[in-house]
Amino acid sequence: MPEPIRIQLRTLTPLWTGGVETGKMDRIHETGLIGSLRWWYEALVRGMRGEACDPTEHACSYDAGKPNHGLCSACHLFGATGWSRRFRLVVQDTTQPDGDSGSRQPTGKRFKRGATNERPSWYFTQGRGGTITVSLIPLATDFDPQVVVGLFKLIEQHAGLAAKTQLGYGWIRLVQPPPFDEAGFVQAVQTAAAAKLNSSEGLPALSEMFFAQIGTSDPALTAMLNLKYDVRAAFRSAFGGDQTLRHFVCGAVRGNQRQAAKVFFSQVVDDTMRVWGWIPNALPISGITRDQVVDQIKTTISQYGPPVRSWREYNSPRDTMTPLQTDRAAFLASLLQEGGERWP
Ligand SMILES: [Zn+2]
Repeated sequence: MPEPIRIQLRTLTPLWTGGVETGKMDRIHETGLIGSLRWWYEALVRGMRGEACDPTEHACSYDAGKPNHGLCSACHLFGATGWSRRFRLVVQDTTQPDGDSGSRQPTGKRFKRGATNERPSWYFTQGRGGTITVSLIPLATDFDPQVVVGLFKLIEQHAGLAAKTQLGYGWIRLVQPPPFDEAGFVQAVQTAAAAKLNSSEGLPALSEMFFAQIGTSDPALTAMLNLKYDVRAAFRSAFGGDQTLRHFVCGAVRGNQRQAAKVFFSQVVDDTMRVWGWIPNALPISGITRDQVVDQIKTTISQYGPPVRSWREYNSPRDTMTPLQTDRAAFLASLLQEGGERWP
């Protein structure tokens, strides 16, 4: 059995793992971390053209008689009906309540449409902040802890961990990260994907995502809310103001029906904000391409003012490090190599 690995991480923006009914977070819930790790693993596997099912729709179930035991690569690692997760994750939680709570509004001329002096607002709930030590305990001989370390690395460098990432929660930094074999990680994802190749159109895939880093001198929540508002406003006028497209990209709430946003904005850490998202090739309306939609997002971000420091995107001329990179493995490796962009 592989040795357990310990990963210590520090939060740079509040972490939200949910897990309680009252809307308050009493502690870090492992399920929130595992859900996030699984989401990213699925996106990486799909980005390599492998099959990763949508566990909210039709998760696999174990069947000894089928190829791969009837499991997609994500279910093989994270578990499915009749098949347990290949590792246990134990959290040593030394966090404290952290972050704002209550309604917060964008600034400037960002008023609610149709109202003269009312601004839109977003509601924040206090998360947790501080240091967490995560132990990865292998439960199967074929479990490679480096895969999970790699997922934490990707999240650390480009995205956010756990929930409420659409409100900028979950920016983490690994403190004294364990030894990490980047090439081995990329190879492991590639091998997992190759075990069962399939189109997963309509589900998040790394090859349809983008990751931007933006400089800003605006305060943490203000910058995020302003830019979040501006992107939504841009989709109100662009593409004929198509509402289906706007809701698809920016998310929407209608009664109890919630459509998840596909673009995420971090809170500001050291004058830097992250924007990332998944814009699929298959859009809900015809006549508009993924490229046009991502261009619109990039233009809006650029117009916000501060320079876009970096833009990462598979096989795209917009990518500032490896433009038009069509090698999926090389692209993933390059995402993990950006050691120069770390903040305290
Ligand atoms: Zn599955």
